[in-house]
Amino acid sequence: MGLLEEWHKKAYNEKADRNALTKMWNDYFQKEKGIYEQLLKNPDEEVKGTVQELADKYGISLEYMVGFLDGIQESLKTPNPIEDTLAADTVVSLAFDKEKLYKNMVAADATWLYGLEQWNKIFDREEQHRMYLEQKKSGTIVKGPKIYPNDPCPCGSGKKYKKCHGRNV
Ligand SMILES: [Zn+2]
Repeated sequence: MGLLEEWHKKAYNEKADRNALTKMWNDYFQKEKGIYEQLLKNPDEEVKGTVQELADKYGISLEYMVGFLDGIQESLKTPNPIEDTLAADTVVSLAFDKEKLYKNMVAADATWLYGLEQWNKIFDREEQHRMYLEQKKSGTIVKGPKIYPNDPCPCGSGKKYKKCHGRNV
């Protein structure tokens, strides 16, 4: 079984204890946000290495790194070979297409990600607004884990999702 399949089985297991899963996702979201903050600081620098090396670089577990690769896949300049045979020593690249990434964050309703202040140095307000509208008009939805109203907000504020970034969702 490849690492991606293992991650999917664990992270999207509907029979798992919901509290434990919520806790895991909340923890994952904080790490994910931290990685995007770093990537967006140097958006044109290619981050490349084995899955294990990147997990070490960002100080996260191998399985979270796999989750991150899964999440960023559609926004990459060149997709990584994450299906079937992904292993700790597979070499992957995080070179992303800035516009695609921004739009995919919008498509996932990840307000806490497309609202990161690092984006303001990459795209001005008008560009962000244009991409937001283009994405919303396209009707594409990126499915992520289900966040319930009483779950902690993925932004890390400590507030409930419904009282924070989930207010208008
Ligand atoms: Zn929030």
